[in-house]
Amino acid sequence: MKVKVAINGYGTIGKRVADAVNAQRDMEVIGVTKTKPDFEAKVAIKKGFKLYCAIPERVEVFEKVGLKVEGTIEDLIEKADIVVDCSPKKVGAENKKMYYEKAGIKAIFQGGEKKDVAELSFNALANYDKAMGKRYVRVVSCNTTGLVRILYLLKENFRIGKVRAVMIRRVVDPKEDKKGLVNGIMPDPVELPSHHGPDVQTVLPDVDITTVAFKVPTTIMHVHSLNIELKDSVKRDEVIDVLKEEPRILLVSSDDGFSSTAKIIEYARELRPRYDMFENIVWQDSIAVVDNELYLTQAIHQEAIVIPENIDAIRAMLELTDKEKSMDMTNKSLKIGDFRI
Ligand code: NAD
Repeated sequence: MKVKVAINGYGTIGKRVADAVNAQRDMEVIGVTKTKPDFEAKVAIKKGFKLYCAIPERVEVFEKVGLKVEGTIEDLIEKADIVVDCSPKKVGAENKKMYYEKAGIKAIFQGGEKKDVAELSFNALANYDKAMGKRYVRVVSCNTTGLVRILYLLKENFRIGKVRAVMIRRVVDPKEDKKGLVNGIMPDPVELPSHHGPDVQTVLPDVDITTVAFKVPTTIMHVHSLNIELKDSVKRDEVIDVLKEEPRILLVSSDDGFSSTAKIIEYARELRPRYDMFENIVWQDSIAVVDNELYLTQAIHQEAIVIPENIDAIRAMLELTDKEKSMDMTNKSLKIGDFRI
């Protein structure tokens, strides 16, 4: 029997989690919610998802335009084994109070929520086992997921010291039309540190990290420039070997024409629906060891990177299988690791 998953909030993250759940053999989406009957609600129905109303008082709004909903969020979670909350930031905490606690259902939250919304801040590589059987888990944000994956691998293989990271962030997602591109580079925040360092420590508490962040006028990806102190002498090739082993890291080279995030997205357009890049994209030629300090540059597709983590969180919380099997099933179903060149 497949595990029944409810998706609350069929937006950028919700629609991707929904497709990824349905690509697994041990789980299925039993319904998705929308707050209004817009084109995304119509697409959800066309794709075969059962549509529910995220805000019970708004059922009428759907009915008025002739869009049939199966019920409300309350009806949906009654039938589900777990809910993946993909509502806008801070709304997840309200949904928890209004619906999930009452229904006694397990829930996954996204990175826009504060850490105390859940018992655990999650990344599959770093702490899958700690999520086993948990009721509430928060999958950390896109930037934090990108940092945690790489720092976990480095920390497991080498003794690392201080981490310094400069986060160059896409200003908004491509679909956004309420706010967006400005002709400027915005320190965000101006003062140190940005929230990313402390957020990494919610998953990897023993990593000494300071982050600085800037928003730039692009919508497609974030870029991180990392500088990591190494406590022992480590060769560049040893680092490359470790990163090559992990399917959720994709090494690319500027020799292959990957000269910018635009080229990475062009590559992804050839390979994946919605040009989703679930992997950290690390420029192999950016990896350098200088005086026992490691440098590297990675690009993160903000809309996609947290999707495999949501799938693994479902398996851990419902104790369906162990870390290796879950990550392997998720990777194979989403073709993670298939596009190395
Ligand atoms: P989004 O705005 O694209 O989608 C949110 C969806 O939730 C929309 O369909 C909206 O109509 C719906 N919604 C609004 N109010 C709701 C409610 N009360 N209950 C249920 N649904 C409601 O947002 P998103 O980018 O998908 O972000 C969702 C979460 O994922 C946030 O916590 C965000 O911080 C996090 N996140 C976003 C990204 C990203 O780059 N987009 C990356 C990682 C994590």
